[in-house]
Amino acid sequence: METTVGRHRRVIMFPLPYQGHVNPMFQLANLLYSKGFSITIFHTNFNKPKTSNYPHFTFRFILDNDPHDERYANLPLQGMGAFSRIFLFNKCGADQLRHQLELELSAKDEPPVSCLITDASWHFTQSVADSLNLPRLVLRTSSLFCFLIYASIPLLDDLGYFNLSDNTATPLLDGLGYNNVPDDERLEEQVAEFPVLKVKDVIKIGFKKDNDGMGDIISNMVKQTKASSGIIWNSFKELEQLQLETIRRDIPAPCFLIPFARHFTTASSSLLDHDRSFFPWLDQQPRNSVVYISFGSVAQVEEKHFMEMVHGLVDSKQSFLWVVRPGFVSGSTWLEPLPDGFPGEGGRIVEWAPQQEVLGHEAIGAFWTHSGWNSTVESVCEGVPMICSPFWGDQPLDARYVSDAWKVGVYLENGWKREEITNAIRRVMVDEEMRERSRVLKRKLDASLIEGGSSYESVESLVDYISSF
Ligand code: UDP
Repeated sequence: METTVGRHRRVIMFPLPYQGHVNPMFQLANLLYSKGFSITIFHTNFNKPKTSNYPHFTFRFILDNDPHDERYANLPLQGMGAFSRIFLFNKCGADQLRHQLELELSAKDEPPVSCLITDASWHFTQSVADSLNLPRLVLRTSSLFCFLIYASIPLLDDLGYFNLSDNTATPLLDGLGYNNVPDDERLEEQVAEFPVLKVKDVIKIGFKKDNDGMGDIISNMVKQTKASSGIIWNSFKELEQLQLETIRRDIPAPCFLIPFARHFTTASSSLLDHDRSFFPWLDQQPRNSVVYISFGSVAQVEEKHFMEMVHGLVDSKQSFLWVVRPGFVSGSTWLEPLPDGFPGEGGRIVEWAPQQEVLGHEAIGAFWTHSGWNSTVESVCEGVPMICSPFWGDQPLDARYVSDAWKVGVYLENGWKREEITNAIRRVMVDEEMRERSRVLKRKLDASLIEGGSSYESVESLVDYISSF
């Protein structure tokens, strides 16, 4: 399969190997390919994408090629432990990356390399790119407001927020030691530096200044994103206008905001197979009548919380399509804890679904989500209101913006309680004002994609910018 004929410039792209990062990077790769660039993907063997879905791209597998290297041979493949690769490769990946880049830069039979685009969390790549005089752009796969909040973690830590406790925080955070201090009235206070946020939202991020592994990754990510030649965001200007202005004021690198879900689907970059068997059932359901439920590719719940979800759902009496990933319920392979007769005729459960297509289906009336950023943007793109049950990281921040800033969802912020789940589902399904606000946001997004609109211009200026190297 030809990859380079008629293509005069090449972009090397290096995603973080997790579903929520792989999807937007491949959407961006498809977009740049459609604009005439030749694409080379650097990837780990861990969570290897289906290369046969991308015959027009060149793949190079780096960082974990040696099966006998004990540093990564026994790392967990799933759950939070799988993220340990981010620490390891950021620490020891530079030589391998430099070697592979030198090979690409000297290749005679490929178009010259214009730039490297890496996930922002591969912060080690900036110094490697600098040493080769290669421009590095970053793809930041969460929101602009999240970046600004992460950039303020040292300040928020100094203000003592991370020493408070929040009993509703996910048990995931227990091991990090954030739930040890007695509750404090300050939890409900606004954060002066980010008035949309409450103090408890900051705690739920789940990591603090550079005194734990993830805090270290985040501070380096912020630093090396600021040092990059450009930042690409999965967002759009009308959604995060103020944040864009702040970032443009503080960071010299140009910003490009592109809502990827409106350019390409994530079907080809899915690491799990999509089940489509429910579509005949979904096609039969009335407009806006079904709750779509998914908590992304990583989150896990305890069985008792899963059962609260089941009861809350049954009591809401709404039809639902529920993605229960194998391993989602801690200690279970898949659906063992479910009572007999569930889900019954009113619902369908699948392991993994073509999410964007589902959200675009007219039967879907609400999305009960973990508020991962891709899921949030995909829901905004389809004008679907949300019920937010965030777990950690950027998710509690996304949930707060969805419910309190854009008002296109309800935030279930007291953990897993069946009555609250039932009430939130019912409310979102009948709240016509919220549905209308979701539609208005979608219309703003649609307008931004038309020639002259902000998202359209972002794509054009990104292409011009890369072509200028
Ligand atoms: N996704 C999917 N099928 C599913 C559930 C999720 O294709 O059944 C996709 C979803 O469309 C999104 C990604 O997986 O693009 C999840 O990313 P997100 O940032 O929402 O959450 P994460 O998995 O990173 O926690």
